[in-house]
Amino acid sequence: MTSRMSNPAAWGARLVCLAAVLLAGACLSGACQTDSGQATGDHERPPAPAAEDADRPAEKESPGPGAEAPKEPAPPQEPPWTPPRFTARQAERDRMVRTVRRYGLEDEAVLNALSAVPRHEFVPDRHQSSAYADTPLPIGHGQTISQPYIVAEMTRLLGLTEKSRVLEIGTGSGYQAAVLTEFTPHVFTIEIIEPLVRSAAERLKRLGYRVVQAKHADGYYGWAEEAPFDGIVVTCAVGEIPGPLVRQLAPGGRMVVPVGPPLSTQWLMLVEKDAQGAIRSRALMAVRFVPLVREDPSKK
Ligand code: SAH
Repeated sequence: MTSRMSNPAAWGARLVCLAAVLLAGACLSGACQTDSGQATGDHERPPAPAAEDADRPAEKESPGPGAEAPKEPAPPQEPPWTPPRFTARQAERDRMVRTVRRYGLEDEAVLNALSAVPRHEFVPDRHQSSAYADTPLPIGHGQTISQPYIVAEMTRLLGLTEKSRVLEIGTGSGYQAAVLTEFTPHVFTIEIIEPLVRSAAERLKRLGYRVVQAKHADGYYGWAEEAPFDGIVVTCAVGEIPGPLVRQLAPGGRMVVPVGPPLSTQWLMLVEKDAQGAIRSRALMAVRFVPLVREDPSKK
């Protein structure tokens, strides 16, 4: 890439974490509670009505000096992740999946993921009639939601399991991130255009994809605090594979990234890091993606 390097510290200061998971996650881990009185402190709890007191077992006396401290109750467990399900426009999704199958993509888990995620929810109103066509569509700010077949193929190449930690560069509409949650709850996504990441995070939360963690940043640097990742999917084209992303790949991890000049044909590359940390990469197919940029164009 020939574009200027922006200062990482300046980017850090501007990070806006729009994690859809934050509230739900915080509540589940006990940071906030809905039980009245618990979150705000005991002093605000109204006195219990006298009638109940009769049935209540006597309060335990506090243990004397030297007594064993009472065991902490086990923290509440996060329920296992179940992605949301949608019935609207299912016939169109099924047709889209049949189209993707015709490319020779036979991975049933990937096809099921495409069949489950309501692409029309990620597409602007004026493109609703094409929401299930096998084409990229504009999502505003000069960006596009990727073609369904490309989303499917990039997802397949990652080889995800439910334990995988996966990072997406280029949140866009949030569609690819939602597809990733069909495989694993550990989904992180970075977008450089603030209004896009804000609306994608809201959309993902509204639809129930609460596990996706999204942030506004330059994805060139990856997400060091959450690394290493078993999968990294870059949904914008790079001139050269960003070093930070290679470093943030776990041993045995895979990165799928379009490499090539902007506004021209690029190569979809699969970058693999083996258990010893050695890197192997190969070009798989010609693709065309919007370029990775180094500054938020909505701020200019
Ligand atoms: N994955 C998206 C489509 C992405 S289009 C979806 O499913 O809808 C590519 C996205 O990459 C655009 O939204 C663009 O703004 C974003 N992008 C470009 N440069 C970036 C960078 N340096 N860091 C993060 N995102 C970037």
